Amino acid sequence: MGFLANLFRGKPQAEKGYTTKDGAHGVWIYLQCNSCGEKIAVRLRTTSEIQKREGPDADLGPGVMFVQKTIVGSHCYQRIDAVVDFDVKYNVVGSQIKNGKLITAAEYEESDGH
Ligand SMILES: [Zn+2]
Repeated sequence: MGFLANLFRGKPQAEKGYTTKDGAHGVWIYLQCNSCGEKIAVRLRTTSEIQKREGPDADLGPGVMFVQKTIVGSHCYQRIDAVVDFDVKYNVVGSQIKNGKLITAAEYEESDGH
């Protein structure tokens, strides 16, 4: 019984380093634009932007919470559509990013000079 049950019910693996807490109500995530390579830090308000995965959203991602957001950088007009799933500690446990990708805080820091 174990194997399949674990596949679907097992705790999603938290990926460390993709978020930085900012005070009581903020979490930073970091994205990179596919078209120009710009690294973008996005501050999420845990009180309003991050939602619980419940009701109709419950089965749509691995997280306990998630955010759905469209981000536009300052270097180009590409719209980056991001859905990021979090565990209770705001570690990333899954993501679907269109036109970009999630990067770690360390990757964001080793920046291209801005
Ligand atoms: Zn861009």
